[in-house]
Amino acid sequence: MTKTLFTQIRDREIEADIVYEDDDIMAFRDINPQAPLHVLVCPKEPIPTVNDLEPGQAELVGRLFLVARDLAVEHGYGEEGYRLVVNTNAGAGQTVFHLHLHLLAGRRFTWPPG
Ligand code: AMP
Repeated sequence: MTKTLFTQIRDREIEADIVYEDDDIMAFRDINPQAPLHVLVCPKEPIPTVNDLEPGQAELVGRLFLVARDLAVEHGYGEEGYRLVVNTNAGAGQTVFHLHLHLLAGRRFTWPPG
């Protein structure tokens, strides 16, 4: 099976600025940042989309949020605010089919999103 881009980052086959890593989760800076802080938080084992999540992965998904929260706070955006985004399938703009949270911070965000 072809490795996802983020699995290649996990395996150090593609370079990335990794800002967090544990046994199950990694986080690295987006190559095309949309905000002063733009980090992708993902499970090390690829899950293509939110549609593919199973009940047994609920804790993992919760931990993705905790890692994103901790990174936002560490970078000084806990009070000011930050945005977490998960695009699901092409119609929502998903381009990498390896589940990831976008952590965006450091500018004003509008609503509704584009
Ligand atoms: P999405 O469109 O929600 O699937 O998000 C995929 C994200 O991956 C985009 O924001 C891309 O800029 C980002 N991306 C693509 N290639 C790389 C890479 N080699 N290193 C870091 N981020 C990447």
